[in-house]
Amino acid sequence: MRKDVIVVGLGAFGSAALWRLAHRGADVAGVERHGIGHGLGSSHGATRLFRIACLEHPGLAPVALKSLGLWTELGERTGEVLVRQTGCLSTGAPDSAPVSGALAAAGAAGVPVTELDHEGLVARQPQYAGLAPGDIAVWDPGAGICYPERNVRAQTVAARRLGADVHAHTPVLGIESGRDSVTVYTPTMELRAPQVVVAAGAWLGELVPGLPLSPRRTPMSWFRPGDPGSDDFALERFPAFIWRRPGGEALWGHGSDEDYGVKIGLAEADTAPGGSEDAMDGLVERLSAVVAEALPGLDPRPVRSGPCLITDSPDGQFLVGRLPDDPRVVVAGGGSGHGFKHAPGIGELLAQTVADERAYCATDFLDPRRFPVGGS
Ligand SMILES: Cc1cc2nc3c(=O)[nH]c(=O)nc-3n(C[C@H](O)[C@H](O)[C@H](O)COP(=O)(O)OP(=O)(O)OC[C@H]3O[C@@H](n4cnc5c(N)ncnc54)[C@H](O)[C@@H]3O)c2cc1C
Repeated sequence: MRKDVIVVGLGAFGSAALWRLAHRGADVAGVERHGIGHGLGSSHGATRLFRIACLEHPGLAPVALKSLGLWTELGERTGEVLVRQTGCLSTGAPDSAPVSGALAAAGAAGVPVTELDHEGLVARQPQYAGLAPGDIAVWDPGAGICYPERNVRAQTVAARRLGADVHAHTPVLGIESGRDSVTVYTPTMELRAPQVVVAAGAWLGELVPGLPLSPRRTPMSWFRPGDPGSDDFALERFPAFIWRRPGGEALWGHGSDEDYGVKIGLAEADTAPGGSEDAMDGLVERLSAVVAEALPGLDPRPVRSGPCLITDSPDGQFLVGRLPDDPRVVVAGGGSGHGFKHAPGIGELLAQTVADERAYCATDFLDPRRFPVGGS
């Protein structure tokens, strides 16, 4: 089967690429090993933080804004809520990454944020306990939460409506790049195209060896208020946050939305991809102890927990672009724990790369060529 472009992996980045390529009129096929919006990779667990003043890199604000625009437009067309802009607080010491990173990103990109002094922070979020006297916060009003399974499905449906072929439950066994085309092998078919986008998440390094990527597994957990009648932890009163605590632990999470519960995680808690259930249980116990100290209004026993995969790159930024030694292959991965919010923005960059269009924002910091081939 011949196509203009094949997209391998229809998670966050791949389904977005499929949509943006189909939007340009490309004859495109997407191949996904599992069902669309499945819970075995990196894009599940009901919600993700959506931030614009991204502490991870000032260059990410234009990508987040592009994502906001595309999801808002798609949601208005389909009647689905794909982003809820209830704001985000980045909290910690003035020189902590959440505070200094969010301020630097906001300054560089002209994103309107508000700085809260210690008194302002305590008045705004009485739910937080154990703040250091010098802790402050940055309020990013355009931030909020987004919805991994729903948004991946919406992107895939949008692509299909625009004519894309979607092959779910179809594992890609190998990708072979020839002189004139790339062949994608599955158990039941061979697909050929002049270019391929590989967005295989935690498995990207298996399909495209030599990329400096390391997958890890981390828990997501949901909590309920200690007082079941309390609305102190509803999303509007307890918005998305990243909080570097005085002891050094960084917590992230957000209040209850659509009755999923209050979602909380520890930024640095992780285990090997095939790690034991005991190791995961140990991480959840550690989280529980931190929640008891930091958010005493919550029952510290999670109502549920489940694993999710994070794929790190050496500098914590994504790899989005052509392979230096094989330009027919365009990759997208290395979400490094903060990629979901950028999915449509990355999908648009992938489509622009394939179409040899000028990128809508600076992309040097995402270019796979910043790493030596075959190493970090
Ligand atoms: C606990 C946790 C919390 C997070 N919090 C946030 C957050 O708050 N905000 C945020 O923006 N980001 C967050 N992230 C990061 C974000 O979820 C990821 O960056 C993003 O989901 C990565 O998308 P992806 O497309 O690279 O991977 P995936 O969405 O996993 O997609 C890869 C797809 O490729 C498919 N695939 C793999 N191999 C093959 C093959 N051989 N054949 C066919 N298909 C294949 C997989 O089945 C999968 O569907 C978090 C991640 C975790 C784990």
